[in-house]
Amino acid sequence: MAQEDVFKKIVAHCKEYGFVFPSSDIYDGLAAVYDYGQNGVELKNNIKQYWWQSMVLLHDNIVGIDSAIFMHPTIWKASGHVDAFNDPLIDNRDSKKRYRADVLIEDEIAKYDDKIAKEVAKAAKRFKENFDEAKYRATSPRVLELQEKRDALHARYSAAMNAMDLNELRQIILDEEIVCPISGTRNWTEVRQFNLMFSTEMGSTADGAMKVYLRPETAQGIFVNYLNVQKTGRMKVPFGIAQIGKAFRNEIVARQFIFRMREFEQMEMQFFVRPGTEMEWFSKWKETRMKWHQALGFGADHYRFHDHEKLAHYANAATDVEFLMPFGFKEVEGIHSRTNFDLSQHEKFSGKSIKYFDPETNESYTPYVIETSIGVDRMFLSVMSAAYTEEQLENGETRVVLKLPAGLAPVKLAVLPLVKKDGLPEKAREIVNDLKFHFNTIYDEKDSIGKRYRRQDAVGTPYCVTVDHDTLNDNCVTLRNRDTMEQERVAISDLNAIIADRVSITSLLKKLQ
Ligand code: ATP
Repeated sequence: MAQEDVFKKIVAHCKEYGFVFPSSDIYDGLAAVYDYGQNGVELKNNIKQYWWQSMVLLHDNIVGIDSAIFMHPTIWKASGHVDAFNDPLIDNRDSKKRYRADVLIEDEIAKYDDKIAKEVAKAAKRFKENFDEAKYRATSPRVLELQEKRDALHARYSAAMNAMDLNELRQIILDEEIVCPISGTRNWTEVRQFNLMFSTEMGSTADGAMKVYLRPETAQGIFVNYLNVQKTGRMKVPFGIAQIGKAFRNEIVARQFIFRMREFEQMEMQFFVRPGTEMEWFSKWKETRMKWHQALGFGADHYRFHDHEKLAHYANAATDVEFLMPFGFKEVEGIHSRTNFDLSQHEKFSGKSIKYFDPETNESYTPYVIETSIGVDRMFLSVMSAAYTEEQLENGETRVVLKLPAGLAPVKLAVLPLVKKDGLPEKAREIVNDLKFHFNTIYDEKDSIGKRYRRQDAVGTPYCVTVDHDTLNDNCVTLRNRDTMEQERVAISDLNAIIADRVSITSLLKKLQ
């Protein structure tokens, strides 16, 4: 199946099974804004819990906060967002579509990378076990030519972005003969800067309303609270502050479903370290975060790091954790070494000293910061993409099954009476009433048992229990495994012990130790 079709199916599946709905659906939606349905909210909460506990429970030097979305507007001046949180945009005059100039060029660079990868794959197939990839890359005239063009484009692009030279960005688009994917033409406007922050007014106009912003990241709420937390929590450097919350960006090109939204959620952790130790912590956090992703069991081949060559003005190292989405490897998380930029800026703009006194070295300094920043919604999309499976069954039917890690699944157990009579519903409800205190358990009696299994497969429920006539005598039920579809007879009294461990977030967290 083409990857594009897979993606369409995932989007449709999300809507059909109560995971994600377009916002304001009955008014035909609101671009790049989405609502989470009854199953989506459970999956999303589980992802957040997995992240939160991995930070706050597993590290005795990390604590959480929940700061407000509105903040003093000067914060966004200090952080650089008012002046520099811009995307370069360009319009195609024929299709009237708007694009990010940097994304158009990055896609072009990716095309060179794809071509090179294809050449290498072809050669690997030809030479089989004798294939020496490094040698081939260094000697194949075709690969060398592509690599040279790619590197030249990349260098030119990086220089233009670093200087934010909008004319040069446009010129690159023209020189590379990049066409609009909709109209197919090269009829481009000038490139303009566009600030991504939403603003609104606080207070009534009579007493002078103040322009405030909807935060475009949660990180600044951590920076401005860092000393409050350090002092009241008696934290010693190195320590971290974690936060989960909404962020807002007026994205120019909002597409790819919940990958790029205008209202989204972030899980950010700022780790405060002694100056000079930041590189060591940067690589530690890279490793820790990759482990967190891979513990979900989708396979290491789904992830890669993408180290930044073009660094933001405040960063001295940065990488993205990329995940193999149906539309290619894409960023889900950023890990940045932000130096002491943010704290120093807040010190300057607020006029207050926010230095940390280190009792071990007897000196005061502004800590350096390593940030891990992951989008909840992108994480959700990556989990959905990896979990969505269409399986051909022996009887010729296909089943759609979400192979979610059990710890993240919205519903852990469905209890199904074989028939709606003979006391079976009552027995089934008894089981639900007992187990619901331990994990999310639901009751379903509608339709044939086969249909009910399919329904649970489609939302990723790891276990189903069927109550039949024998149950009334032997107090045993049939326990069905979602992935293997194997069924075993187990005592009702053993259900909790068998299931609870496997479906808990703890089972995921234990893999991180
Ligand atoms: P991109 O380059 O894709 O715009 P970014 O580098 O600007 O992302 P960061 O500012 O590093 O992203 O934000 C950290 C994380 O927040 C991202 O890795 C992503 O998971 C998430 N994120 C950022 N923007 C959005 C958005 N518009 N919609 C959904 N998630 C987002």
